[in-house]
Amino acid sequence: MSTFVEQAQGLPELLPSVRAFLGRTPSMLIAGRWVPAASGRTFTTRNPADGSELAQVPYGDSEDVDRAVAAARAAFETGPWSRTSPSVRGKLMWGLANLIDANLDELAQLETLDNGKPLSVARRGDVPGCAEMFRYMAGWATKIEGTTIPYGTPDAIHAYTRREPIGVAGQIIPWNFPLGMASWKMAPALAVGCTIVLKPAEQTPLTALRLGELIMEAGFPEGVVNIVTGYGETAGAAIAAHPGVDKVAFTGSTEVGRLIVQAATGNLKKVSLELGGKSPSIVLPDADMETAVSGAARNIFSNAGQVCTAGSRLFVQSKIFDNVLAGVAERAQKLRVGPGLADETEMGPLVSEEQLQRVTGYMSQGVAEGAKAAVGGNRMGEVGYFVEPTIFTDVRSDMRIVREEIFGPVVTAIPFQDLDDLIAHANDTVYGLAAAVWTRDVSKAHTLAAKLRAGTVFVNGTGGDASLPFGGFKQSGWGREKGKEGLELYTEVKTVVVNL
Ligand code: ADP
Repeated sequence: MSTFVEQAQGLPELLPSVRAFLGRTPSMLIAGRWVPAASGRTFTTRNPADGSELAQVPYGDSEDVDRAVAAARAAFETGPWSRTSPSVRGKLMWGLANLIDANLDELAQLETLDNGKPLSVARRGDVPGCAEMFRYMAGWATKIEGTTIPYGTPDAIHAYTRREPIGVAGQIIPWNFPLGMASWKMAPALAVGCTIVLKPAEQTPLTALRLGELIMEAGFPEGVVNIVTGYGETAGAAIAAHPGVDKVAFTGSTEVGRLIVQAATGNLKKVSLELGGKSPSIVLPDADMETAVSGAARNIFSNAGQVCTAGSRLFVQSKIFDNVLAGVAERAQKLRVGPGLADETEMGPLVSEEQLQRVTGYMSQGVAEGAKAAVGGNRMGEVGYFVEPTIFTDVRSDMRIVREEIFGPVVTAIPFQDLDDLIAHANDTVYGLAAAVWTRDVSKAHTLAAKLRAGTVFVNGTGGDASLPFGGFKQSGWGREKGKEGLELYTEVKTVVVNL
């Protein structure tokens, strides 16, 4: 059984700035002002390490979304933002990135409190990654170009394209990487000159609101970024359906992705989706075993498996299956699970009671369907939303734990014979977000990279950078975020035809 870091004394004190933030009842950002919900209602955001209340947050609904969209529209059409030069947009974004860096400790602690992830991870990954995304996209602000196109009768007509901002972007984000997802959505939209209505997940609204404060401190004009806190079925649905929103960008479950598409049909707003996954981690017999085993373990247990690219199906060539399984199991058992604020914690709790029910439900379902838990399979402790890192063996491809996204630290280990067998099974999923391969054979690596139906293929380890396009094949999504491709989600191409 994995080591459980008991909640207790010994957790570090909250920073004075974090206590101050939690103390000044968080409000929503609409038209440059910090406001309560029109209804006056609030909802509770909780600490997943112990279920305690962190703050009351405005329960935004359609009336608040209307106000936020009106503010974003005004900022886009007539406000100072509509006249802001690309260079100044880039400078504002770079300034924001510096403010994020300057507030690293506070943002990391807030992220850990609200989401549960280890503080060391938030400090090393989430917060710097957020700053880096704004910095990367700031560089693009001055490089949004059209093309000159040779026309059939060049003496008669001069034709070219312009890339223009799409307008008001509605952005709905999940709770697994609250700051990271906010930056993936906001940075490209700001770089090209759009305005924004962002809705953070109801489980983790705090860092988006703190980021909103930094956005205003950085000097963005009012109405450029509006942040509405609230639930998906109300505030989120209102954004997706709103006739004043030109584009909706969503990251979350495939099920909700379908609802977003339906809601968007009213004004046929543009839609981009980053949805679920059931990604394969693949170990070939020639792989460096140490790298493969630790990589496969990290690929499912980091962020407690609440990662859309999590390697939740582990395919291992049958000759080395027992060895790899033993290695990953050993790592699972050594993982220190506990509150994110504790120094020694390597894996935090799941984000919510609902997520705990969902993941433990899948664990029981797996056993009921005949799978064997090689390690784990249970909740840990009685306080907070902790579960054991879990590996299932003896699985069949029709089991729900093999087919459905669990979004927890649960992996199904599956032996394969040869590459054809592997490719068929690895691609036997409605999803296609990512795949990871461990091999020292360069030819096999490239062959698999071509054959695996996934938006990203990792070879001998994962990695992500603001510059790399990210998105899914099949039911894992529409469009690519990050990199140059990410900008295209927020621009329209205009063709200009000039008769000479
Ligand atoms: P999860 O099931 O992992 O919580 P969701 O896909 O439900 O993920 O949530 C991701 C984001 O989508 C959250 O911000 C949530 O509030 C929002 N959301 C949920 N349902 C809807 C909906 N019907 N319309 C718009 N947004 C929604």
